[in-house]
Amino acid sequence: MDATKLIHHPYQAPDGFQGVAPGVHKASTVIFENTAALKTRQWKDKSGYTYGLHGTPTTFTLEERLATLEGGLQTLLAPSGLAALALVNMACLRAGDEVLIPDNAYAPNKDFARGELAQWGISHRFYDPMDADALAGLITERTRLLWLEAAGSVTLEFPDLPGLLRVARSHLKLVVALDNTWGAGLAFDAFDLGLPDKGGSRGVDISVHALTKYPSGGGDVLMGSVTTRDEQLHLQLKLAHMRLGLGVGANDAELVLRGLPSLPLRYAAHDAATRQVAHWLSARPEFASVLHPALPASPGHAHWAQLCTAAGGLVSVVLDGARYSEAQVHAFVDALKLFKIGYSWGGPMSLVMPYGLRGMRQFGALGGRPDGTLVRFAIGLEEVGDLLADLDQALGVLAARAP
Ligand SMILES: *Cc1c(COP(=O)(O)O)cnc(C)c1O
Repeated sequence: MDATKLIHHPYQAPDGFQGVAPGVHKASTVIFENTAALKTRQWKDKSGYTYGLHGTPTTFTLEERLATLEGGLQTLLAPSGLAALALVNMACLRAGDEVLIPDNAYAPNKDFARGELAQWGISHRFYDPMDADALAGLITERTRLLWLEAAGSVTLEFPDLPGLLRVARSHLKLVVALDNTWGAGLAFDAFDLGLPDKGGSRGVDISVHALTKYPSGGGDVLMGSVTTRDEQLHLQLKLAHMRLGLGVGANDAELVLRGLPSLPLRYAAHDAATRQVAHWLSARPEFASVLHPALPASPGHAHWAQLCTAAGGLVSVVLDGARYSEAQVHAFVDALKLFKIGYSWGGPMSLVMPYGLRGMRQFGALGGRPDGTLVRFAIGLEEVGDLLADLDQALGVLAARAP
C-alpha cells in the first residue's frame, strides 16, 4: 500500500459535472498552483480562493443567493444569527461610541451591549421602537449604530420603519442595522423603504438574518448573514469578519442552500396557518391580548399594513397575572402535545415558549407590567386543524386549573 498515492492520486475526475444542488466544497487549506498565484490571488472580491475562512465556492454561492433574497449587493456568513449581530456591533463600534437598541430587540443582542460592549467602553441605550420622536431626542454626536427590528422579538410590535429611518438619516455618521429574521427578505424590502438613496440603499444600511430560522427551515442548523448595499461598509464588515475568524462549515452552508428554494413556499404556508391560529386565539376569552401584526388590535398594525402583505409565523398571547398564575399558564403549556417547548422557530414543528412579563419591557402596553405571562407560539407546517384542537384541549387544562 502506497500512502502517497492515496494522497496524490493520478486520477482526476472530469470537469463539467452539474447536478441540481451546488457542490459542497470543504477546505481549511486551499491549494495555490504556484507562488505567483499565492501573491496575486484575491478573496475580497470573490475572484479567487485563499483559505477556507475566506470562502469556498459553496459559501460564495450561498452569499450571492442571500444577497439576492434580501435585495442587497454583498453578504457575509456567520456561524449563528447571534454571531452575525455581534459582528455588526464589533465592526461598527469603537470605544466612546453609543449604540441604540429597541426595547423589544432579540434579547441576546441587548445582553451583548450590557456585557462585552460595556466592557469595551461602548455605551448603549434601549429606545421605544414605537416612538420615532423620542428616538430623535436620544441621538447624540456619540451615537454610531442604530438597531431596528420588525416585528419586535416575542412581543411582535411592528414599528414605523420608514419613520425611524427618517430620524436616523438626519445624522450622517449613523449606521442603521436591521435584524431582518422575522421578515426573512420576503415580508418587506429592507433596502427599499421609500427613502432617498444613501450609499445605494433606499432603506437600511445593514440587514442581519438568522438563517437558523426560515432559510434553513429544518431546525437543524445555526447560521447568520450580514447583507449590505454599500461597498465601503461591506469591506469594513468583511475585514472584521476575517480578523474574527467567523467562517461557517460547508455542510451547514449546504443545509441552508438546500432550504432556500422552498423558502417562499414555506414562508407563505407559515403565514397562512399563523393567521388562522391568531384569529382563533383572538376569539378566546382567556387572553388579555393576542399579538400578531396582521391583527388590527396588535401594536403597530397600521405600520405593518403599510409595508407588508405577509405576517410571518409567530403569534403571542398575554395572560393577565390577576387571572392566571404562572403555574396555571405553565400547566397549559405542558398540556400541549403538538406544540413542543423550545426556542427558535422557522422549522416544520410548532413550538411554544412562556415568558414572564415582569421586567421584560420598559415601554408600551407591556412596559413596567408587574405581572402576567406571555406565551409565544411558532406555527410549523402541521395541519392547522390539528394545532387548533391541541390548543383547545390545553386551554381546557388552563380552565380546570383556574381558581
Ligand atoms: C434566533 C434569532 C437570532 C439569533 O439566531 P441564532 O442563529 O439562534 O443565533 C437573532 N435575531 C432574531 C430576531 C432571532 O429570532
